[in-house]
Amino acid sequence: GTISDVQAPQSNKTAYDGLRDVVAGGVSSNMRARGVAAPLVVDSAAGARIRDVEGNELIDANMGYGPHIFGYADRDVTEHVAARFRCGHLTGLPHRLDHEAAELVAELVPGVEQLRFANSGTEALMSAVRLARALTGRTLVLTFGGHYHGWSETLLRTRECDGYRPRPLAPGMIPEAMAHTLQVGWNDAAAVEAVFEEHGGELAAVLCEPVLANAGVVAPAPGFLELLRERTRSSGALLVFDEVITGFRVSRGGAQELYGVVPDLTVLSKVMGGGFPVAAFGGPRQAMKPLAQLEAFHAGVYAGNHAAMAAVAASLAKVRSLPGLYTELEALGAYAEARVHEAAAAAQRTLQVRRVGSVMSVALTSPATGAVDPDGHRRLQIACQGRGVYFHPIPDEPWFLSTAHTRSDIDTIADVLAESLAEVCAE
Ligand code: PMP
Repeated sequence: GTISDVQAPQSNKTAYDGLRDVVAGGVSSNMRARGVAAPLVVDSAAGARIRDVEGNELIDANMGYGPHIFGYADRDVTEHVAARFRCGHLTGLPHRLDHEAAELVAELVPGVEQLRFANSGTEALMSAVRLARALTGRTLVLTFGGHYHGWSETLLRTRECDGYRPRPLAPGMIPEAMAHTLQVGWNDAAAVEAVFEEHGGELAAVLCEPVLANAGVVAPAPGFLELLRERTRSSGALLVFDEVITGFRVSRGGAQELYGVVPDLTVLSKVMGGGFPVAAFGGPRQAMKPLAQLEAFHAGVYAGNHAAMAAVAASLAKVRSLPGLYTELEALGAYAEARVHEAAAAAQRTLQVRRVGSVMSVALTSPATGAVDPDGHRRLQIACQGRGVYFHPIPDEPWFLSTAHTRSDIDTIADVLAESLAEVCAE
């Protein structure tokens, strides 16, 4: 696609200062505020590029936090949704597209037979956890440090714990918010065993990102997902995979297909909707029974609106129709990983790269300690942004590659990284 004409040019700083006056913090998502190291206000986006209000074009490696596996403004998805908007996109009644979208999800995701649609990952996770509690009659949920499951009251927690107890992350959360949430380290099998030993009979669910992608990318250690599967099964708890990032991204059937471990409940969003606000949670029919019988509660005026369903149907039909999609994304990811390492070597620095397919975290490390250097990384990000390459300034946030990124785009990113590293490290 092409990028639309720019309105009257305005500097990013002026635009950002103006909007900060009326939008609290300048953003409608705290995650996004952390993304603004140097002001960048978007005019439009297409393919792998965003255009800012000054008229600069930047190659984007953040890609809206992951939904756009085919790039921005993908015609197949966008046209389908635009057509739905012209036909009335919200009636508050069932639509044939609900069936089409749900069948595609159920066909592609091993653990999903039946589902409900929601508007965001946060909502779908709230509902999945509630469903797990309804099914088990228990309340405790075991989570893992650094895994992000949205900003709801019982899941928005600190990365560090007092024992197994995380703390509410932010002011305004009720102090008891974490009374039913436990947390251990990701890939810490001994800690999982200890929690099951002590609390196995009280656990409603074990909830994880099957590939951690919110604290850099950390794949599950060999056998770790299998351990979670086995312990949940034998203790009567549900295994819940938050595949908001990994679903239709690390393979067609998500991480559960890639690693061959099928959870009881799956939460999906992002790639499923090609950038439109939509999410889903589902499982075997038996697990969805409290909702099928309308005993458990989940609702929403906008949940499963016809435009969102058109987005899911179009995105997943496209995912299904491209046999080589995941081989292509893996090859692109491997190429990017190699080029990023070369760029770092050219500047005599080390970038830590962790990758599963097209999801890749890149973090500047300190030569003295070898640890991630968040301040240096932020300066690197600002320098790259000035040269036309955008990625998130927080090294925890991964890069998301898409079929719209060419080898030549990756080469440009690598060149810009090398130049920016040389500049930042000389400071
Ligand atoms: N789970 C994961 C793994 C996520 O990465 C995110 C968002 N980045 C969420 C849940 C929350 O989704 P949303 O922002 O749509 O509420």
